[in-house]
Parts: sequence; C-alpha cells; structure tokens
Amino acid sequence: MDEKNTPYYDVVIVGGGAAGLTAAIYTSRRALKTLIISKDIGGQAALTNEIENYPGVGLIDGFDLMNRFLEDAKKFGAEFKSGEVKEIEKKGEGDFLVKTTVGDFKAAAVILAFGLTPRDLGVPGEEEFKGKGVSSCATCDGPLYKGKVVAVVGGGNSALDAAEYLSRIAKKVYLIHRRDQFRGDEILVERVKSKDNIELVLNSKVKEIKGEERVKSIVVVDVNDESKEREIEVDGVFVEIGHVAKTKWLGDLVEYDERGQIKTNKNCETKTPGIFAAGDVTDIEYKQIIISGGEGAKAALQAYKYLQQTKGIKGAGIDWGVVKK
Ligand code: NAP
Repeated sequence: MDEKNTPYYDVVIVGGGAAGLTAAIYTSRRALKTLIISKDIGGQAALTNEIENYPGVGLIDGFDLMNRFLEDAKKFGAEFKSGEVKEIEKKGEGDFLVKTTVGDFKAAAVILAFGLTPRDLGVPGEEEFKGKGVSSCATCDGPLYKGKVVAVVGGGNSALDAAEYLSRIAKKVYLIHRRDQFRGDEILVERVKSKDNIELVLNSKVKEIKGEERVKSIVVVDVNDESKEREIEVDGVFVEIGHVAKTKWLGDLVEYDERGQIKTNKNCETKTPGIFAAGDVTDIEYKQIIISGGEGAKAALQAYKYLQQTKGIKGAGIDWGVVKK
C-alpha cells in the first residue's frame, strides 16, 4: 500500500485481552485515536469459565467480562480489527509502521498486549489429535464431552479450573499432574478434591496420546519409575500446562527475559521509546486479569505522556497525581 494512504492512529494496541482492552479505554478517554488489532476478543480471560476474583462484579463468565471491557473501549471511540500483527517497523521517533494480516497502519505509539500462547505437552499423538480430542480450552470444547470421560493435564489454576468445570459435564475426569502438590489456589484444590467424579493421578506424566479418528486413550507413566505404565481410556484430553511467550517476531525492538517475555520498566516502557508493553506477555510476575488491566492502564497513560512530549499530541488532560514542587 502507498504509505501516504496508510491509515494513521495515535496508538495501535496489539492484543485484545484484559491489558489491551483496558489500555484502549484509557487511550481513547484521552482522545487518542486508537486501534486494537487482535486475533481474538478477551484473550485467556475470555476462555475462563467462571471468574470470581475480579473485584466488584461477583461471579462472572470470562467471556462476558471481556465483552464488557470491549464495549467500554468502543464506547470511548477505540476501533477494533480482527487480525494478526506480523511486523512492526520503526521509521523514526514516534513513527511506526504496523504490518498486519488486515493491512498496514501507521502509529505514533504501540502497546504490545498480546498475552501468552498455551504450552504443548510435546508427546506423540498430541499434534495429530488436536481438534480431534486434544484441546487447550475446557470452556470452548468442554460441552462436547457430556457424559464422556476426559483427562486434564496440569497442576495450576487453569488445570484445576478445567477439571472442576468438566466434572459438571463429563462422566469422569482424570486430573494428571507430574507432582503431588498443586500450584493453584487452595480453594480450587479443595473443590477438585471434593468431587466424586475427579480422579487424581499424581506424580504422573502423559507419555502418549493414542487414537484412530479421534483420541481413544492416554498412556501415563510414574515420574519416579517410568516402567510403571497405565493406559487410560478417554474421549478427550485437555492440556492445561501453562503458557509460552511467542514474541520472536518483534526482533530487537524489545528485550526479553529467559522465558521470551517482554522486559518492561515499572511504567510499561520497553527499550524502544514509543513501544510499550502490558499484561501477561511481559515479565510481570503475576498473570491475573486485574493486574493485566492495571498494567494496560499504566501503558496507556505512559503512551499518552510520550505522545505529548514527542509529538505535541494533546489529549483530554493530565493524570491526577502528586504535583512536583
Ligand atoms: P501455571 O500456573 O504455570 O501451571 C502450569 C502447570 O502445568 C504446573 O502445575 C506445571 O507443573 C504443569 N506443567 C508445566 N509444564 C508441564 C509439562 N511439560 N508436563 C506436565 N505438566 C507441566 O499455568 P496456568 O495454570 O495456566 O496458570 C497461568 C496463570 O494464570 C497463573 O498465574 C494462574 O494463577 C492464572 N490463572 C488464574 C485463574 C484463577 O485465578 N481462577 C485461572 C486460570 C489461570 P509444576 O507445578 O510441576 O511446575
């Protein structure tokens, strides 16, 4: 596309999860022309069946909560496009070209908030049966397993959440974890343990996923003695073993920690002025909706400050805060 005709935005936000959508609410309320580009709406939070630790709203479905974030962002003028960002090119100070599957966009500032991607087990059969019994989203695919037998792999909040949710749909749930201690919240551990149709298979790992057209069984081995093998007949396997950062495409625009997450300072700045990052894709310790939202707000305010200082772009006003003497 002729660059002169490339649409311009003050801020392009990459990712439409809790961090990205909150950033959009903040930038658009500052009268910054804002575009969110995302593969999905709501990110990981939208895939969570029940959220009960987001303050002020009580028990809520993750998809509903994230749609409220999106509606708020749109209400203040942010635009949303469904697509994937492929490359960001720095042309000059406050001048970026964002290349996406839905066209190119010029931006004076960019906020990276595209979260993490589910981690694979890396065992035989996993790739082959993805979408044919292997899933990483209990909320999306769980309803397909009414009255059936499923396995959930993992020991964090996602696995516990998935096991509890699936126990209400499936006839039986095997929860397979490689240790005998869970990483998730105690309240979820207790809930899982109280379910008659959840069988804990601890100190165990999945060696293989077997099937024909679809998954038929999994082979599980004892982590301390791999000769102790058990084949369990299942109709589905939910892999809930955490997430990885897919950030390599950003090249040297940002710095990374040892997990490939984007390094930021406390104001969500990256090593490139004008590029900010927020939420799960960054090296912040805690991956929670409320924290991602807060980080998104910070990134937006910092982007606003950057645009005022470098481009003279005037938004709606300054933040409330301590006035320097
Ligand atoms: P996580 O907390 O990183 O837990 C990943 C689990 O998978 C761990 O138990 C880990 O075992 C296991 N695991 C990792 N690699 C494995 C492998 N190759 N084979 C077998 N098991 C493996 O990830 P998460 O559960 O997806 O949660 C991510 C973040 O989202 C957390 O901060 C979590 O609190 C948050 N979250 C919160 C909620 C909620 O508040 N309701 C719900 C979902 C997620 P080890 O324990 O042995 O390392």
